Amino acid sequence: MASRGAERSTQFPSLFLFDIDGTLMRGAGPQHREALEYAAARVLGVRTSTEGIPVHGMLDTDIVAAMLRREGVPLVRIRGAMEELMRSAERRYVRNGPGSLTGKVCPGVRALLARLQRRGVPLLLVTGNFARIGWRKVELAGLRHYFAHGAFAGMSATRAGLARLAIRHARERGWLNGVPANVSSVVLIGDAPSDILAAHSNRIRSVAVCTGISTREELEAHRPHLLIRNLGDLRLSDFGAD
Ligand SMILES: [Mg+2]
Repeated sequence: MASRGAERSTQFPSLFLFDIDGTLMRGAGPQHREALEYAAARVLGVRTSTEGIPVHGMLDTDIVAAMLRREGVPLVRIRGAMEELMRSAERRYVRNGPGSLTGKVCPGVRALLARLQRRGVPLLLVTGNFARIGWRKVELAGLRHYFAHGAFAGMSATRAGLARLAIRHARERGWLNGVPANVSSVVLIGDAPSDILAAHSNRIRSVAVCTGISTREELEAHRPHLLIRNLGDLRLSDFGAD
């Protein structure tokens, strides 16, 4: 069952922003974590792991920093190497990533993306993945062609900042049709509390899905505008579509 507020907009949103892990797909495999570990070893010579780091909803930049900080690497050194750490992890993932992710796509995702694309609504990624890792995942899942652009780890220090960048890009391209970004015009869909917080901080609409690690109760506590089991439960009439 979905929790739906009484509030309903009359104008269909101009822009949809999607998280990747736990939202578009689930269980993408260990290769992403392995690529971050590989980069730490290759670039800074530090053997470390993501073990014990609550990676759910975190940006790759923060995950890498947490891994290295735990091994005693000074923050200034981590920051100085971040660009290279990113490139190294991206190359590793593209070379050693999973063969296919088509079987990992969450319920309702393909149908929803296809319907939104038919309506001509731009779809953008807002994800904690490094850019080439995120693009590679959606490509391996067969979803690449739905997305016009993306905001990724390394482009801003926070997920809210990434959402802001995506919105700015859409505005500059004229995709917002001149309307302000607000709860009627922009939707951010994600599976973690950090996605909900990013939406609230940008004053846009938050849709939370229970296809990730967070429980329904955890997500509900952050008060998304809409909380659904999976994207198969999303009705375009929730946004004022006829
Ligand atoms: Mg996620």
